[in-house]
Amino acid sequence: MTMVADSRPKPLPIVTDENRPFWDGCRQGKLLLQYCDQCQQHQFYPRLYCMHCGSSSIRWVQASGRGIIYSYTIIYQNKSPEFVRDTPYNVAVVQLEEGPRMMSNIVETDPAELRVDLPVTVVFDAVNDDIHLPRFKAL
Ligand SMILES: [Zn+2]
Repeated sequence: MTMVADSRPKPLPIVTDENRPFWDGCRQGKLLLQYCDQCQQHQFYPRLYCMHCGSSSIRWVQASGRGIIYSYTIIYQNKSPEFVRDTPYNVAVVQLEEGPRMMSNIVETDPAELRVDLPVTVVFDAVNDDIHLPRFKAL
């Protein structure tokens, strides 16, 4: 029996103690960021300490889910079995209102509409029971 090339599951994020609150939030439809009480800045991805000032006085807060496209690209060729049937698809860096940038995909949006500075809002894609990936759509 041969394995069909496109049957390999996509790689998924690995949930750790450090990022578990983020993924728990996504499952509840909330985009959570870490916020530093010392320097009043948000950060993403999750870390044990503030990337701006080194403080360990960080907590989880809910982000607005809104941002703009900072940069994006359209992938026309991806020979990896996990993605070969998805082309063309986009990969975007979203500048969140709170400051951090997040790599994701723009969905539910005509690809011809994609442009830098396009306002977007988060949507959650339940890829399995544990992982609901944050993606973004045009506002
Ligand atoms: Zn800080």
